[in-house]
Amino acid sequence: MSKKEESQSVFVKDAVFEVTITDIGNDGEGIGKIDGYTLFIKDAVIGDRVKAKIMKAKKNYAYAHLEKIIEPSGYRVEPACPVARQCGGCQTQCMSYERELLFKQNKVRNNIVRLGGFDEAFVDSVMQPVIGMEEPWRYRNKAQFPFGKDKKGNIVAGFYAGRTHSIIPVSDCLIGTPENKEILDIIIRHMTKNSIEPYDEVSGRGLVRHALIRKGFTSGQIMVCLVLNYHGSGDVFVKSQNELVTKLSKVKGMASISVSINTEKTNVIMGTEIHTIWGQDTIKDTLCGFEFDISPLSFYQVNPIQCEKLYGKAIEYAGLTGKETVWDLYCGIGTITLSMAKKAGHVYGVEIIPDAIEDAKKNAARNNLLNADFYCGKAEEVLPDFYAKAVAAGPEGDGDNSTGNRSALHPDVIVVDPPRKGCDDKCLETMLKMAPDRIVYVSCDSATLARDLRILVDGGYELKSVTPCDMFSHTVHVETVCLLSKLH
Ligand code: SAH
Repeated sequence: MSKKEESQSVFVKDAVFEVTITDIGNDGEGIGKIDGYTLFIKDAVIGDRVKAKIMKAKKNYAYAHLEKIIEPSGYRVEPACPVARQCGGCQTQCMSYERELLFKQNKVRNNIVRLGGFDEAFVDSVMQPVIGMEEPWRYRNKAQFPFGKDKKGNIVAGFYAGRTHSIIPVSDCLIGTPENKEILDIIIRHMTKNSIEPYDEVSGRGLVRHALIRKGFTSGQIMVCLVLNYHGSGDVFVKSQNELVTKLSKVKGMASISVSINTEKTNVIMGTEIHTIWGQDTIKDTLCGFEFDISPLSFYQVNPIQCEKLYGKAIEYAGLTGKETVWDLYCGIGTITLSMAKKAGHVYGVEIIPDAIEDAKKNAARNNLLNADFYCGKAEEVLPDFYAKAVAAGPEGDGDNSTGNRSALHPDVIVVDPPRKGCDDKCLETMLKMAPDRIVYVSCDSATLARDLRILVDGGYELKSVTPCDMFSHTVHVETVCLLSKLH
């Protein structure tokens, strides 16, 4: 567009348009087109006819505000949560759950096609239907609520409004457990009564920053950890602590109450120091048939119901008969590793966080799984190191461990479950050298998944099956598990 044409564009800030929503963006926003110009409209649902006001205009597209729904889409539903639009937590509450699942299925499919460069018809032939939730509410076993004040000066706890740091009071979050509200109400009442100030991010003053609440869905045990900007003794919190503990301990299932000290001006929620002030240091829960001890700082899957379904699929894809050698990269506390150890010959887990590896080892021992070994480090370092050493040791291997190293060098299965940024090139390169029969890729970001699938397929693998799984209902996030098979 020339300077002159640009100045004449009708797509300018504050201009209002009527448009039909024909697509859904990656963040769940509605997409409408007018003469080839694209409008991204938050909270507009595919099929809606809306009036939208341009907030920020670019050459070919603009972000617009939903002013009015002229004709609602057949997929539009009344959000179950009263603050769904303001709160940053959920993005797809205006859409029926069936349509949300279809959106997720398409998001994975389209990323694999566009970003992975795969043929559409081929991708359609390997895509399996998304695994949805039977009951897509109350699924999260963990929530972290920030504390603050509303305009009238009342203490509130809730969630940050989308992309901001102002708190939307929402104690009964419908994707969390009902106990959250009971617990937050107790804390807020106690703070108000004893003049305990919530933390203020701007001034760095005030005491109570966050409450972390976790519930073991199988055990029913609940943990509360209050994150405090606590600088010393004699604080009003310490003086009134017993009163708070007495009230919180009466909540059904309460098993652990702790405080975490965080005096840093940071977005990081938890401090590194944890002090238990009532009950146990940890709560117990069972996931994939294994009992885990969970501390306030432990990584633990937030949707255990779907996690079991997702990992069940990963195990099915691994095709274990009892003899196989398996590597589980990015293994966390070893949920997949241990599940596979039960059905394989030998498994090797690799994880960067030392505490998680310690948990994984403890869990292997507790469950009498002697065929699991764990390495702490980056997958992109541990795997190439292992490979280089095993190759250098030659076909005879290094003494009495030769058989183990030989099969570990060329395993039957490699499972990866990386964070959002996907696998490092060095890791993928080594996986290709190790040439397992099957690769099972569990992903929480289908864009990086698509990129990595391309590398693995170019390296001699065939994409066999792709199953999306809904772990985060009412949000735009989707998990995927894929099976790749070595071409012979
Ligand atoms: N499968 C795990 C969860 C995986 S989440 C479970 O069942 O619990 C991704 C994991 O990768 C996290 O535990 C994270 O700490 C770990 N991680 C992140 N970067 C890593 C890297 N470069 N190498 C190894 N592990 C990494």
